[in-house]
Amino acid sequence: MKVDKELCAWETKNVSLKRLDGDRVRLNRTYGLLEHQALGGSPYPTFISGETIKEANVLVSRLERGLNKLESVSLNDFDAAVLVDVGENVRRIHASMNYLYNPKEVAKIANLLSVIYGNGAYTQLQAMLKGVIHSRVLHRASADDFARTWIQREPEFESVRAALLGQLEKYKELVQKICVDTGLLEDKLEYDLALSPPLFGFSFWDDTTRLAAMNPKLFSQDGNVSATALNHFNHEIIGHNLNFRFSRNMPRGLLPDEQGYLTQIQGVLGEGVALYTMDFALGWMKRNRNLFKGKFNDPERIPGAEELYISRKLWQIVYDVLAFHDTENEDNTNYRREHRPKLVFAELTGNPRFFRDFYLFDDRTFSETLADLQYVMGRIQTKNIVSALRKEIDFRKPKNRTAAMKMLLQGFWTSPQAKKMFVTGPLLARMKAAGEIV
Ligand SMILES: [Zn+2]
Repeated sequence: MKVDKELCAWETKNVSLKRLDGDRVRLNRTYGLLEHQALGGSPYPTFISGETIKEANVLVSRLERGLNKLESVSLNDFDAAVLVDVGENVRRIHASMNYLYNPKEVAKIANLLSVIYGNGAYTQLQAMLKGVIHSRVLHRASADDFARTWIQREPEFESVRAALLGQLEKYKELVQKICVDTGLLEDKLEYDLALSPPLFGFSFWDDTTRLAAMNPKLFSQDGNVSATALNHFNHEIIGHNLNFRFSRNMPRGLLPDEQGYLTQIQGVLGEGVALYTMDFALGWMKRNRNLFKGKFNDPERIPGAEELYISRKLWQIVYDVLAFHDTENEDNTNYRREHRPKLVFAELTGNPRFFRDFYLFDDRTFSETLADLQYVMGRIQTKNIVSALRKEIDFRKPKNRTAAMKMLLQGFWTSPQAKKMFVTGPLLARMKAAGEIV
């Protein structure tokens, strides 16, 4: 069975819904334009256009009217999920527009986070931070990280980069092997591979050019296959790449282009599923652990490293959110504005270092905070969808785990509820009928 052509082709039947889905693509692109303006960059400096804001608000109102009309119409299971997804998409943009671009609105960061990530997200983040402080897993993972010397991890010398280029093909073969061995795909994946640009600091998948660029810091410089590097290849190539590929024959709102892909819209579940892909492929890596040599290169240590990665993001996010929270208080003097988040952080963690060390945190744009939230919240949301799927199919069977992976990679959904409706509804029925679930 061809995964992308037969299992992943979906169409909305209701004509009004089809039109709404087109409008939401337009809305996401317009909102993306606002983000682009705010972030600035060559050749224009930062600016925010009132015309773009007006256009986004007009689209929000039009979509809200359309959504209201469709509420009482009876739809098939797939269309019903898409309707929920469009509604969630519009709600998040509406709330973001109000919070960031409407000077008359007295919105609060806690409310915005609730709209985007669910009720109680603001307090949930602070509770997660408290959990991190006493985590033994993180203590061990950070010790591993620390034990690898700076020079081993510093691959930006040209000679080192040149040597790493020779390793890329080997990883490409391993990713292909994981896809075939687990039954995820039969055909050969075609894409380009590169190291990410010097000092870039992370890996990424670019779907327009079909390029995976990998952070050189992940590799072993002794030429051995690195479990950490392979784990990240899995994220970019099995996660992001297949997410796009399996969404090609879906409504356009579920297959965003570069301009319409937003961190608080498709980004949350997009990163969530890419992180889940790492868990999925880890089983294969553990079964093939003889591939990996060296003390810090054991697939068993990967979950700890991933936990550390997420927790480090959480740290700065909580600080950013506290700083945002403070800008909302009218009685704020400049002094309080700069110091209160650090004081609250010190209270939360019980550690005065956070208050006394002025430069421990970065000052960041809201876009950067949202970008990091994708991982923290997307992971939780995707795990919830997987739990719902576990009630329907037996995950002890490898074929079913692969089927679940194929299902989670279909569509860039905004709403976790809509994705759950789709995965456990029409998609589950199709997978069963196709004999993909045993
Ligand atoms: Zn990613």
